[in-house]
This record gives sequence, structure tokens and C-alpha cells, in this order.
Amino acid sequence: VQAEIIAVGSELLTPSRVDTNSLYLTEQLNNLGVELITKGVIGDDRDRLAGAVRHALNRAEILILTGGLGPTEDDVTRDAVAVALDRKQAFHAEVKEAIAERFRRFGRKMADINLRQAFIIEGADILWNDHGTAPGQWIEDAGRYLMLLPGPPHEMKGLWERHCFPRLSRVVPRQVIRTLVFRVAGMGESDLDQLIAPVYKKYTNPVTTVLAAPGDVQVHLRAQCAQDQEAIALLDEVGRQIDLLLGDRIYSRNGDSMEVTMGNLLRQAGATIAVAESCTGGLLSERLTSVPGSSEYFLGGFVTYASALKADVLGVPVEVLATYGAVSKETAEAMAAGVRMRTGATFGLSVTGVAGPGTGGEQVPVGTIYIGLSDSIGTRSVHRQFAGDRTRIRQFATQYALDLLRLQLSS
Ligand code: AMP
Ligand code: MG
Repeated sequence: VQAEIIAVGSELLTPSRVDTNSLYLTEQLNNLGVELITKGVIGDDRDRLAGAVRHALNRAEILILTGGLGPTEDDVTRDAVAVALDRKQAFHAEVKEAIAERFRRFGRKMADINLRQAFIIEGADILWNDHGTAPGQWIEDAGRYLMLLPGPPHEMKGLWERHCFPRLSRVVPRQVIRTLVFRVAGMGESDLDQLIAPVYKKYTNPVTTVLAAPGDVQVHLRAQCAQDQEAIALLDEVGRQIDLLLGDRIYSRNGDSMEVTMGNLLRQAGATIAVAESCTGGLLSERLTSVPGSSEYFLGGFVTYASALKADVLGVPVEVLATYGAVSKETAEAMAAGVRMRTGATFGLSVTGVAGPGTGGEQVPVGTIYIGLSDSIGTRSVHRQFAGDRTRIRQFATQYALDLLRLQLSS
């Protein structure tokens, strides 16, 4: 079964408000095994909205509208749906009475404009609203289901939980949607897709999507089946093949972030970490400490931006800095070894590089990053060249640094 959501409200077309209602509703629909095929935002314009409703009803069996049920001129959802379905609206005295009662309870007098909210589309069921004045409406039309819900999120949720979810679960054939998420670092989106597409393209169920962020490619598998067991088996079948191809490049199989995965590995190993950062300016420490309980393994970090501080605080030899430069393999390794020595951590992890847009006098191109990793066995480093702006390069750098340690811990 397929659904569409239309969020109504001119404010949602400005940069200051976002449509969050549809995210909640999407999750709820998925819980019912209903797939969202389209969603949109339409301003407070009756004719444009009526057009969108007609269009939606040509392709979806379920249409949910939120917003535009208020008492003012710009609340056009009732009128637009009536026009689209070619139905009349009728005044319902009991709705008016309920609204008036609500006003009385709050010690206020109902304004005349609130009478507009007592108009219900012909054939619609009234969805009584405990959290506001606007009632919702439930309409069946040629085998399709339309829901008109208020815009304020708590009112929308109240009506959904109390009326829409129970009604839909009776009419929608039982379906479950299950997802499996792999997260991969150390590989670009297109390389990854080239590798795994031959596997997932064979299946229309589960549906596979590849999403990319700097240094973090996510593979989402969504299986839709009548039975839970069936969905799990499908995800298992496809997931196993993808797992084989990506191997240890997968850092998470349950959606956990890199810092959470890394933290778990450190905790399991009974190990600690200290970091030395230059161009990432504390981002590595920020990510590590964003995880609750990170004090169990994270000892601390140093942001050593100036060369003098790399020498003074971490003990990077002045000759190393003079000979190879602050952005070099040698400096990254000396930083990692130094921070480990000075803190007594199991692992010392370092990042030095050029995040851009200028090179700050370094003899290397923008996006050059060296990551150093030191433990009781020795110290090594990797060199990476990233593209993009300052934010992206810093994100990439921390992701690869954490991934380097993750690989070491899981090998
Ligand atoms: P309305 O029912 O159109 O009068 O909407 C009332 C208020 O609900 C708006 O001012 C918004 O703050 C909020 N709202 C409306 N639509 C949404 C939406 N799709 N997502 C989140 N908030 C919304
Ligand atoms: Mg509105």
C-alpha cells in the first residue's frame, strides 16, 4: 500500500520552518508496512492545494494532509479537499458546541471565525481533537483513505494515535518494513556502489539506497513483507552478500556512529586513548566525548596548532618540525607517540594537515592530512588527500583517524 503526505502551510515554504510532521508520519506508516511514495509542502493556497490533492489521489491509496485546519482565512485545507473531491461541506452543530466548550473551559469566548472549523466535508468522519480546536477528518473515497490532520505537532500526533493508526491498521493488509544499515568509512560512494550494485540490483525487495556523507557511506536495505520472519530472511540474504564484498570496511551493522563503534571496541579491549590534533582543532576530541560513558576510555586531547606547542606539549623534536614540516608523516608520528607517552594512554592518535582554503605557508596542497597512530608495538601513519571545503576536510580527517584505530582494534 502506498501513501502520500502533503504538509500545508506557507510558513513551511520559508527558511525558518521545517515540516517535521511528515517525518513522524512516515515512521508511523512504515510501522504499518505502508510505503511513502511522495511528500510535498504546499502553501496556503486553495486551488494549488486542490490540484495537489487530485494529483496525489491518482497515485496513492492513502493521503495524509497536515495543517491548514485553523479558523483563519489562510486555513484552506477543508475547502481544497472538498473542491478536489467535488463534495460539499456541512455545518455540524456538535462540533461548534465542542469548540465553544473548549473556549469556555479556558475562560474565553469563542470568536465567530472559529465557526469555520465546524464545517465537515460530506461523508467524512469527525476525528475529535482533545488538544486543540480543529477536529480532524477521515474520508473514504473510491477505496482510498484521506486524513485531514491539524498542523501543530502534538495535535497531529494525538489524532493520529487515537484515530488514524487504529483505523488504518484495520484496513491495510498486514505488512512489515524492516531495515538493515551498513556504514562504511574509507571508501567513496561510487567505488562502493560499483562494488555492491551487482548484488543489490538483483532484488527489488529489499530496496537498497546508498547515502553519502564525508567519510561515511551508508547502505540502507529496506525489506517489505507480510511476515517479520520473511523480511528478516530477505535482509539476511542480501546483507550477507554485501557484507562479504565490503568486509572490514564496514564499521557498523546497526546504524551506530563511528565514535560509538570505536568506543565499544576500546572498552572491550580495556584500552584507553589520548589524541593530539592540529587542523581538526578539537573535533576529534569532540566526537569521542559526544558518546556517553566515553570517560571510561578517553583520557583527553591536545589541540597543538602552533609548531612550538607541538614541540613543547607533545615533545615533537624541533629537528623533525624543521626538516619535514608540521604537516608530514614524521610530525604526525611524533605527535601520536608524544601524546601516548605523556598521557600513558594505550593508544595515541594524531591528526595534522591543511584544511584550507589557504595552505598557511605549508608546502603541501589543501586537503593533505597525516594521521598518526601509536601503541606499545610501534607508531605508524597514513597520508590522505581529501577534497572539499574546510568543514568537509576536517570531517574526513576525524573519520579516517577514528577508522584507523578501529581497524587496528578489530584486527
Ligand atoms: P495550522 O494548522 O496550519 O494552523 O498550523 C499551526 C502551526 O503548526 C504552524 O504555525 C506550525 O508551527 C505548526 N505546523 C504546521 N504544519 C507543520 C508541519 N508539517 N510540521 C511541523 N509543524 C507544523
Ligand atoms: Mg497554517
